Amino acid sequence: MVRLILLGPPGAGKGTQAARLAEELGVPHISTGAILRQAVFEKTPLGVKAQEIMDAGQLVSDDIMFEIIRERLSQPDSRKGYILDGYPRTLAQAEALDRLMSEEKDAPPVTVVNVDLSPEELVRRIAGRRSCSNCGAIYNVHFKPPRREDVCDNCGGALTQRSDDREETVRERIATYERQTRPVLDFYAARVTRVDGRGSPDAIFEKIAGLVRAGKAR
Ligand code: AMP
Repeated sequence: MVRLILLGPPGAGKGTQAARLAEELGVPHISTGAILRQAVFEKTPLGVKAQEIMDAGQLVSDDIMFEIIRERLSQPDSRKGYILDGYPRTLAQAEALDRLMSEEKDAPPVTVVNVDLSPEELVRRIAGRRSCSNCGAIYNVHFKPPRREDVCDNCGGALTQRSDDREETVRERIATYERQTRPVLDFYAARVTRVDGRGSPDAIFEKIAGLVRAGKAR
């Protein structure tokens, strides 16, 4: 069983790493942002409520998010472990998650990793980010371009930019991160390993995979 929490600002590369680690480790990649985007796409009551908040670069309420994560972690595939990407994002979420995780029986220690990057580099990366509207694969026009412009290498789907990846929203998301999410790092201070997000994706992947395999947090 693997329990990994990936922390870090938007655009630091958490999603890319989480997807690859999930494949390598055989556990689900749980991205609360992806769950919300799916709800927006399906126009569910949650999606309708969440869209405005997401496009403003703000956070969906802790109560709603906790319900989502509680439900997701109760599904059978989460029993063998999981990689959390985008949750927790506030101190209250971290505390609630800690309680939830402490109820899991015979579970190994939690690995907590923070991938960090400067605000300038975050803005540059997010502006270049594209994802496949069909299979969700992530690209970046600066350093991971698709073979054909705006076409997914994997499935031929159309590449699009997330509506909250526009520059104005990105700046607000980074400000929200600094205000509400950075304090979460203090909560995990004794357990977190910091990873420099400027490294190559391969090097960052190896580092995190090594930490998980060693089953330790630092
Ligand atoms: P992400 O894909 O992780 O960057 O998330 C996209 C957006 O979804 C965020 O900017 C928030 O508006 C919302 N969101 C995702 N996860 C959370 C969370 N744990 N708490 C509150 N809002 C979230």
